[in-house]
Amino acid sequence: MERVCRGLYIGRFQPYHMGHSQVLQVIAGSVDEVIIGIGSAQRSHQKSDPFTAGERVLMVSRAVEELGIKTYIIPIEDVHRNSLWVSHVKSLTPPFEVVYSNNPLVKELFHEAGIEVVETPLFNRERYSGKRIRRLMLSDDEGWKDLVPTSVLRVIDEIDGVGRLRRISGSDDSREVHSEVSEMRP
Ligand code: NAD
Repeated sequence: MERVCRGLYIGRFQPYHMGHSQVLQVIAGSVDEVIIGIGSAQRSHQKSDPFTAGERVLMVSRAVEELGIKTYIIPIEDVHRNSLWVSHVKSLTPPFEVVYSNNPLVKELFHEAGIEVVETPLFNRERYSGKRIRRLMLSDDEGWKDLVPTSVLRVIDEIDGVGRLRRISGSDDSREVHSEVSEMRP
């Protein structure tokens, strides 16, 4: 029986965008199966990480349907020790031969663990970046909708993702002023 070649692609996908999609198309041409690790799975409801692991699983699983390749989508929580992270990832995923990443820390940790790391091409990084998409969402700029696959757009609509991002990014200045005033009281 021929051995299946599996590749790991890990990202936070906050949210999953067209850049991720294009990378996955390249990866799908090089391996038999792709494991997609949803990094920082414990994070959500934060300005830099608004979506839960489950919501990101939904985004990625719907978006990769058209890839035509077997995928495994696995949420992976962060661990406090970088030196243990690769073993942690391996304990949660099917076996893999190669890791695809441009993230310097991810590359370094897998390289030190003796696992082949392949850099992936960047597709219009200025345009396709999670940070930029979240910024556009916050500034009421509908342009972000062109930067994610339609399936992801639907998930974000379903969960009112933009509304959440705006609410959690809201300032609580009034409470701060109130507490400052309280502290000044005799
Ligand atoms: P990301 O979603 O920002 O990016 C995922 C990948 O997609 C990266 O390789 C990135 O270069 C690529 N990419 C992004 N935009 C692209 C574009 N326009 N064109 C082509 N490629 C593009 O996620 P990330 O921050 O790299 O995710 C790494 C995850 O690993 C994080 O969740 C991090 O916390 C986790 N991690 C955890 C530990 C630990 O727990 N100790 C250690 C290392 C990494």
